[in-house]
Amino acid sequence: MTDLAPNLNQDRVQDWISKNPCPGQIDIRFAEPLSRHLYIRAGGSARLFLIPKDRDALVWSLELVADFKAKLLILGLGSNLLVSDLGFDGVVIKSTQMNLDFEVLDLDRIHSGSSLAVSTFLRKGLDVGLGNFSFLAGIPGAIGGAVVMNAGTNLGETRERLTQVEVIDRGGVKRIIEGQSLGFSYRENHFLSPGEVVWSTTWRAEAGDREELKRQYDEVLSRRKQIQPLEWPSFGSVFKNPSGTSLKAWQVIEKLGLRGHQMGQAQISLKHPNWIVNLGGAKVCDIVALIEGVKARSLKELGILMQEEVKIVG
Ligand code: FAD
Repeated sequence: MTDLAPNLNQDRVQDWISKNPCPGQIDIRFAEPLSRHLYIRAGGSARLFLIPKDRDALVWSLELVADFKAKLLILGLGSNLLVSDLGFDGVVIKSTQMNLDFEVLDLDRIHSGSSLAVSTFLRKGLDVGLGNFSFLAGIPGAIGGAVVMNAGTNLGETRERLTQVEVIDRGGVKRIIEGQSLGFSYRENHFLSPGEVVWSTTWRAEAGDREELKRQYDEVLSRRKQIQPLEWPSFGSVFKNPSGTSLKAWQVIEKLGLRGHQMGQAQISLKHPNWIVNLGGAKVCDIVALIEGVKARSLKELGILMQEEVKIVG
């Protein structure tokens, strides 16, 4: 990693920590390999990697970022992120242990911490006979990531069921966003500002027979297994479905003859062309080259503008 953030060196950070001890529970790591935390199992290291385990530790982490004027990357379960092979020259805050709350409010609303894995959220809902979240079944992220990405499928999207979001920013201030202010579009939210961390969420749930709800989720999971290359590390869909054409993203890639196209150990999946898989030891630069190749050719040969769904950092 090139030394772009000399201010954030280990000695200075440790000195700051000794003067400002963290009031909460936190795991602090230097030069942490991000490939351990990203679904694609590729990418460089984070200069400083923090795993806050409660609210105080999150607020403290945000203070540290502000004091060092460091670049910030908030990480969920890393299922929609690519970080350069050169790493991230700033602070990564992994948000998957800080708020694991789950509470049923009334009979048709669930309050959930942002750290909960989507699969745990669905299972806990099933335990109390609340569900109808088939559009989230099989999405391997955390609740915070689902909100940021407006995660979903052709069965529905996060925006249809989310009623409230609480965020915490660098000053430790809590902001509540609800109603019309919860603006979303396809795989995007329009209410979070840079540096704001999703802390908790409230969802409209539907009561139902536990066995029937489970059967619905299992059906979605088995369909996913049939059509998605789940046996390889990936980040799900690479591109959003393009606008202005009836073609889906995978059909554009198919039309370009790129199914199975490979750069190093990164491959446009043979099973689903809108996925790129890591066959073992893939470099992020190879993955990015595949993405750029699809974009350039689809524009030149088909006049179709392809936009990434995956977030690329660095
Ligand atoms: P990350 O990948 O860690 O982060 C995604 C973005 O959210 C980043 O910009 C990050 O900075 C931000 N972020 C994460 N947590 C927070 C927080 N608490 N506060 C503020 N910002 C935060 N997506 C779909 O929509 N539908 C699918 O069907 C689907 N299938 C997938 C299947 C596979 C096998 C894989 C690997 C991915 C799939 N995805 C799918 C993509 C991905 O799972 C979703 O986008 C998911 O919502 C990302 O959640 P995450 O916790 O992994 O977020």
